[in-house]
Amino acid sequence: MINEKMHALGDEPSAIRELFAYGMERKAQVGADNVFDYSIGNPSVPAPPKVRETILRLMEEDPVALHGYTPAAGDPAVRDAVARHIRERYGVPATPGQLYLTVGAAAAIAISLAAVTHPGDEVIVISPFFPEYSTWIGMCGCERVEVPASVPDFQIDVDAVAAAIGPKTSAIIINSPNNPVGAVYTRQNLEALAAVLRAKEAELGRPLYLISDEPYREITYGAEVPYVPCLYPRTIVCLSYSKSLSLPGERIGYIYVSDLMDDAADVACAVAGAGRALGYICAPVLMQRVLAECVDEPSDVAAYAENRRILTEGLSALGYEYVEPDGAFYLWVKALEPDAQAFSDRAKAFELLLVPSDSFGVPGWVRLSYCIARDTIERSLPAFKALKESYEG
Ligand code: PLP
Repeated sequence: MINEKMHALGDEPSAIRELFAYGMERKAQVGADNVFDYSIGNPSVPAPPKVRETILRLMEEDPVALHGYTPAAGDPAVRDAVARHIRERYGVPATPGQLYLTVGAAAAIAISLAAVTHPGDEVIVISPFFPEYSTWIGMCGCERVEVPASVPDFQIDVDAVAAAIGPKTSAIIINSPNNPVGAVYTRQNLEALAAVLRAKEAELGRPLYLISDEPYREITYGAEVPYVPCLYPRTIVCLSYSKSLSLPGERIGYIYVSDLMDDAADVACAVAGAGRALGYICAPVLMQRVLAECVDEPSDVAAYAENRRILTEGLSALGYEYVEPDGAFYLWVKALEPDAQAFSDRAKAFELLLVPSDSFGVPGWVRLSYCIARDTIERSLPAFKALKESYEG
């Protein structure tokens, strides 16, 4: 008999992917240029040329050695390169044994949760949150506890986190720069969170793990993105190159269990065990090798910065309310009616594909992915105008 829980998950479409699929259909019907698709976070900037050059060079190597298995956690030489990058960039004593290479941040988070939770535990998320957190928390048999971000700045509401931590709490997931709101948590905010977690650890007499989900670390518009392990040693960093190097389909990222935590070796061992148990061993080897060479490549955020400017100026002139994004490539816009799904449905009539906020855990907003062609953004502004007018007339 099939597993009902898995069937339900397979059957339940993600709001983002559903809208993305609708967009593909609609583009086939009316032409791609006539649909303003803000649905999915697929980077519009190409991967750096060095990625291509490295792949082409690797193709000249002995294919048997090139395509073979690596150890489960990844090629030691690649982990060495990533550890060196972390040491140089953040001034922390990172060692390769604390790194586990993964198929993107998705696997990194699923593995990390499995490593530090037990069925029945609670995991705190800050709402609005990336919808897949619910799936991974559920897979571990844990409960999701939502703590709304503070309004209007969408920083972590540290007092609310303190109030939410109880005897069953084992971990908290944070994501900065944030999907969907584009907030970047300030040093002061993260320091306050760290202080609360330390105090609660002392009170509970056991560890509280901070899982820092960081696919957007490199995508900022000038804001500082503090390195979380420096502020709270019991941090597990889940980072991917899906967005920063524009490689979402190549599935490469890592888990870094901070060397600074007192139980570092045991947590890294549990991560290795969870990776093994979930079948996430030996991340794609060609991409591992690319990573070794491209780990220091900067992200090209110029196009996103320009898109952000055009979109925010355009929407602001039309009277839309939104959260000013400091990072990532999403704009969190207030729906023009309380029901975000109804607003998203109405937007479709203007060929605007906007993801309703409900699956992110809050009502009344929509998310716009502005990692799209600049021209699409410019041409979409009249549609936003018409959408707004449809509520006024
Ligand atoms: N976490 C957040 C906040 C994301 O936005 C995404 C992808 O969009 C992921 C995790 C998953 O990243 P990856 O594609 O590297 O698995």
